Amino acid sequence: MVDLEKSVQYIKNVGPTRVKLLNKLNINTLEDLISYFPRNYEDRGIAKKLSDCKDGEEALIKATAVTKVSESFAGRLKIYRLIVRDGENACTITWYNQSYLKNVFKIGRTYNFYGKVETKLGRYEIKSPIFDESGENKNTGKIIPIYPLTYGISQNTIRKIIENGVDEVYEKLDETLPDYILNNYKLMGINEAIKKIHFPENKSDFIKARYRLVFEELLGFQLALLKIKESYKTEEKGIEFERQVKMSDVINTLPFRLTNAQLRVLEEIDNDMESTKPMNRLLQGDVGSGKTIVSIIASYKAVKSGYQAAILAPTAILASQHMENFQKTLNQFGIKSEMLVSSITKKNKTEIKQRLANGEIDILIGTHAMLEEDVVFKNLGLVVTDEQHRFGVKQRAKIASKGNNPDVIVMSATPIPRTLALILYGDLDISIINELPPNRKKIDTFAVGKNFEERVNRFVEKQIEEGRQCYIVCPLVEEDEETELKSVTELAEKLQKETFSKYRVEYLHGKMKPKEKDEIMLKFKNGEIDILISTTVIEVGVDVPNSNIMVVENAERFGLAQLHQLRGRVGRGEYKSYCILKYEGKGKVVQERMKIMCQTNDGFIISEKDLELRGSGDFFGTAQHRNS
Ligand code: ADP
Ligand code: MG
Repeated sequence: MVDLEKSVQYIKNVGPTRVKLLNKLNINTLEDLISYFPRNYEDRGIAKKLSDCKDGEEALIKATAVTKVSESFAGRLKIYRLIVRDGENACTITWYNQSYLKNVFKIGRTYNFYGKVETKLGRYEIKSPIFDESGENKNTGKIIPIYPLTYGISQNTIRKIIENGVDEVYEKLDETLPDYILNNYKLMGINEAIKKIHFPENKSDFIKARYRLVFEELLGFQLALLKIKESYKTEEKGIEFERQVKMSDVINTLPFRLTNAQLRVLEEIDNDMESTKPMNRLLQGDVGSGKTIVSIIASYKAVKSGYQAAILAPTAILASQHMENFQKTLNQFGIKSEMLVSSITKKNKTEIKQRLANGEIDILIGTHAMLEEDVVFKNLGLVVTDEQHRFGVKQRAKIASKGNNPDVIVMSATPIPRTLALILYGDLDISIINELPPNRKKIDTFAVGKNFEERVNRFVEKQIEEGRQCYIVCPLVEEDEETELKSVTELAEKLQKETFSKYRVEYLHGKMKPKEKDEIMLKFKNGEIDILISTTVIEVGVDVPNSNIMVVENAERFGLAQLHQLRGRVGRGEYKSYCILKYEGKGKVVQERMKIMCQTNDGFIISEKDLELRGSGDFFGTAQHRNS
């Protein structure tokens, strides 16, 4: 038996500094280490001829050294050059400041080089490649796993450490699935799976390993959810809300007509509310499909039946947006809505809590602040949580426990196919709003390469001159050592000082405090910022009707579902809206993804395509949270 709980500090090649870096990645134990799955793989297995390489292509070249390494200087920079031949063509290999390379290569010997091949003017050059002596498959000659962000640890180092970890556990892990499941579903054993997910020898290895690991994760997930659902059933009765309270009372006052999908969903909710069974319902609908109004109408029913409602939003800004909508619709019925977020004054909080406890407040809208012990309802009958992916099952249970078996609605804007929803939300009944209000305009989407940068900038300028606002989204906060992604801060500086110096440019990222984020978001909402740069942290649900253009940098780094969510932030007002996806890379999957985004605005179609392109594994943690 192997001790999976043992600290990573006891793994070969891990010293005190590396332990700290690993801990930052949430790798604390041997188990964490071997579960740190690659985000991608590079096939450094098969050598290409220089003449078959396109300019800029990453490739493995097998070539013989024909010169010694020469050394030259360019100011402080030392340049090392080696000429090699692959039988047909010569190629210059260049390194910088790596004097130890001077004596590494021997004339007449063959080596593998892996790197970006530049083929300018019929001359070949590779800068700073990874290399091995031919036959020595350390860094090349095989499929190489690429790990998610590793901060101070290089890919080579983390790969080595994980290899050591995998060696320690290989053939010693206890099988976690029973034989009949392994046999029935033809699954790889756990030991093979762990080894091959990190170090596949070929593509089929990797597919089988991933299949097994995803299978296991899903199975565990589903079993856990079934257990929760089972526990609902055994609990005592839920609330029977009044039949005489008609949802149509609110519906008739609305300035728009509800869609058929909204009406259908409301009927499902109405039935649940009137029955004795506690409602646990997922309300799923694409961005802009009008989930909020559904929750408002359900809250009306709860309040007029003599109960209170709680609306849990992921951020203060979304809470205040809901607050506006609830008041606008329900004040006329004498229903009192209040907001509880952590930023309000202590005095205010105390007062709200008091009024909540004695029943003067009918609907409490707020953030995590509502979960605290001392927030007590007089008679909580309905709980709505918005943008569910931010809240875990536990938090849902916590707020629900403030009432006596209240009905629960979970709203999610992530459209996923029904079959998947059944797996992910196995503990909930599902209602889907599969129709957008008729007044929605299509968001024109364009996928463009780097060469369009200038034109995109001019287009953004034109929109701002017309009084609109723009979002620019980029994938990461910190520069990854191995990729060339623009970080928010770096991009912000460039745009503030150069490209858009005439305009008010601000940025947001995940490392900011919630309060700072809210302040900036509010400024954007109030039109005090022209261009907002951010990672994906800006809220999905926030309405800024005046913003009509979104530019996504490195769009190839985002999943389809995510791009769709992002795009949903524009097109919320009267203006024609645009989404511009700037992408790099010529891969087939990337091209296909961009094409789908340009073709359709329908979140359900997009999620199905996403599933086809990625396989279902990515929907469930395994890849997702490790990559973000
Ligand atoms: P989401 O489902 O993304 O949370 P919202 O509830 O925020 O969407 O609704 C988006 C906007 O559409 C809101 O301004 C809302 O008032 C409006 N809306 C909702 N339902 C309809 C409808 N049936 N017809 C027209 N507009 C609607
Ligand atoms: Mg919403």
